[in-house]
Amino acid sequence: MRRVSIFGATGSIGQNTIDLIRRAPDEYDVVALTGAHNIEQLARDAIELNAQVAVTAEDDLLDDLRDALSGSSVEAAAGAAAIEEAAHRPADWTMSAIVGAAGLAPGLAALEQGTTLALANKESLVCAGELLLATRKAHGATILPVDSEHSAVFQALIGEDLAAVERVIITASGGAFRDWPLDQLAEATLEQASSHPNWDMGQRITIDSASMFNKAMELIETREFFGVSPEQIETLVHPQSMIHALVGFNDGALMAHVGPPDMRHAIGFALHHPTRRHIPVERLDLAAIGTFEFRAPDLRRWPALGIARDVMERGGLSGAVFNAAKETALDAFIAGQIGFLAMADVVRATLDTLEASDGHIDATMTLDNVLQIDHLARKAARAIIEQ
Ligand code: NAD
Ligand code: MG
Repeated sequence: MRRVSIFGATGSIGQNTIDLIRRAPDEYDVVALTGAHNIEQLARDAIELNAQVAVTAEDDLLDDLRDALSGSSVEAAAGAAAIEEAAHRPADWTMSAIVGAAGLAPGLAALEQGTTLALANKESLVCAGELLLATRKAHGATILPVDSEHSAVFQALIGEDLAAVERVIITASGGAFRDWPLDQLAEATLEQASSHPNWDMGQRITIDSASMFNKAMELIETREFFGVSPEQIETLVHPQSMIHALVGFNDGALMAHVGPPDMRHAIGFALHHPTRRHIPVERLDLAAIGTFEFRAPDLRRWPALGIARDVMERGGLSGAVFNAAKETALDAFIAGQIGFLAMADVVRATLDTLEASDGHIDATMTLDNVLQIDHLARKAARAIIEQ
C-alpha cells in the first residue's frame, strides 16, 4: 500500500486527486487530508478514505471538524502548525495543492522525507524555487510537476538531453477576456473574471487565468523547475487548451503534449510515475475537433507576462515579492477595492518599492527570508492599494 497525503484536499486539484485515489482504494493508505473552510467535505473524504488525520487551516473550526469526525477513527487538527506537522507524517507520495504561499512550508516539510512531492502549488516554485530544489536534492526526494503545462514539458523531456533543448513553449487559453475589447478590460467584474472557457478550477487561479498572472507564474515556474533561461521560454495563446506545452530541440523538432483539459491527467501521471496507467479522461477525437488555433500574446492585454519577464531576469527573492503582491492585489480585486487592470499596476509598484528598499530581494533564499519578504511585500502592496 502506498501512503499518500493530500494538502489542499478540498480544492479543485485535491478533489481531482481524491477522485483517482477513490478508484483504487486498496492501493492507497491515506495519511493526511487538509483543507480550510469546507469542513463538511474534508470530514466526509477523511472518513471515506480512512485517513489518519484531517487538518483544517482555520483554528476556529477545530470544534466543527471534531464534531464532523465524531464516531470515526480520524484525528482532527487545526492551524498552520498542524498542517506542517501532518507534512512530517511519513508518506510515500504527497500532493501539494494548497493555494498560495501557504503551500510552501508544508511542501518543504514533505520533501524532507525524501519521497515524492506532486507539486500543484506553483506559488512555492515562484516564491522559493531554489530553496525547494535544494531541499529536494539534500533529501534525495522527487518533485513531479502537476501543472498541465509543466507535466507536459516534463513528459516531452523524458529520455531527452536538456542541453538539446532550444525553447519551451507554454500555451495559454487566454482566459475569460481573450477576445474582449481592450478598452473594456478595466471595467471587468469579479463574476466575469471568475469563469474560464475551458478549465474548471478554483476561483483564484481562474481569475489569474483571465489576467494571465497564472501564465506569468507558470513562466517563472518553468524557469525554476527546468532550469531553462528566460529567453528560451515563450508563451503562445492557444484557445482550445489541448496542446499544453511544446518543447523545441536543436534539430528543429517540436514535441507537443496534447490532451483534454482535465487535470486528472497531470495528477494521474504524477501518481503513477514512472509507469503509465489508465486514467479516466476523455480521449480526443482530433478529426471532430478539426482545428487548433494559435496567436501571439498581446502584452497590453496581459501586462503580467511582461512583469514575469522582469522577475525572471531579476532573480533573487523577486519571485516571492511578485507572488505576495499578486495575492494581495487579487484579494483586493475580489473584495471590489481595485479594478481588474489595477492588479498588474499594484504588482509592478510593489516590485519597485521592494527593489528600492535595502537589499531584501538579494537576501539568501531561506524559508525565513522568503516569509519575511512575503510579509513586507504584502504590506507594501496593501499600502499601494490604499493610496
Ligand atoms: P482551490 O482554491 O480550489 O483549493 C485550494 C485548497 O487550499 C483548498 O483545499 C483550501 O482549503 C486550501 N487552502 C486555502 N487557503 C489555505 C491556507 N491559508 N492554508 C492551508 N490551506 C489552504 O485551488 P486549486 O484550483 O485546487 O489550486 C490549488 C493549487 O494548484 C494552486 O497553487 C494552483 O495554482 C494550482 N493549480 C491548480 C490547477 C487547477 O486546475 N485547479 C491547475 C494547475 C495548478
Ligand atoms: Mg497551468
